[in-house]
Amino acid sequence: MKWTPRTEYIKRIIFAHLIKKESMKLEALLLARCENKCELCKSGEDIQIYEVLPQQNGDAEDCIMLCNVCRTQVEKKAELNSGHWYCLSESMWSEVPGVQVVAWRMLNRLRNESWAADNLDMIYLDDETLAWAKATGDHENDATVELHKDCNGQLLQSGDTVVLIKSLDVKGSTLNAKMGTVVKNIRIVEDNTEQIEGKIEGQTIVILTRYVRKQGI
Ligand SMILES: [Zn+2]
Repeated sequence: MKWTPRTEYIKRIIFAHLIKKESMKLEALLLARCENKCELCKSGEDIQIYEVLPQQNGDAEDCIMLCNVCRTQVEKKAELNSGHWYCLSESMWSEVPGVQVVAWRMLNRLRNESWAADNLDMIYLDDETLAWAKATGDHENDATVELHKDCNGQLLQSGDTVVLIKSLDVKGSTLNAKMGTVVKNIRIVEDNTEQIEGKIEGQTIVILTRYVRKQGI
């Protein structure tokens, strides 16, 4: 077949379709496996795919289904609530390696609590699964979670709207960033919990979290 922009276009559509079909197949497989319940805590609320990193084969074995409460804490987007994780004493016996991996990592993060330490003594991962569990180094962290917080200690997330509580002096700019300016759709700076990014008068600037107050939801 002679190449034309149209061939390329058709190829792209077929490819996108295949990917969509694959991901639908993956989701269907996972939903059947988890019976529409979070594979860690068995909640049926807001179940979504969580990819257990690092990916091994890129198939269902590499993914688990998590509820929103589990996922935000696993991904360190919410404070670790140890009471929620008593569920691990059951889910750590799952036959799904991905579930074993995440259970093991979470128990490690909670290891200062005796119930978690006891479970860590009991949990069994074969050598391959244990190597996978250790690969991210996540288990070496403790329960503390570094989160972006505003001047009142409210959790900040990308997409939030904030108000400046102090007029900002933006170097080399005539930007009018006065106290009280509303900044919509902020982005959190991933590796620095003291910084967010926001657009003021069409310009994206870095703002310190201590100078903003989150606007009511
Ligand atoms: Zn859950």
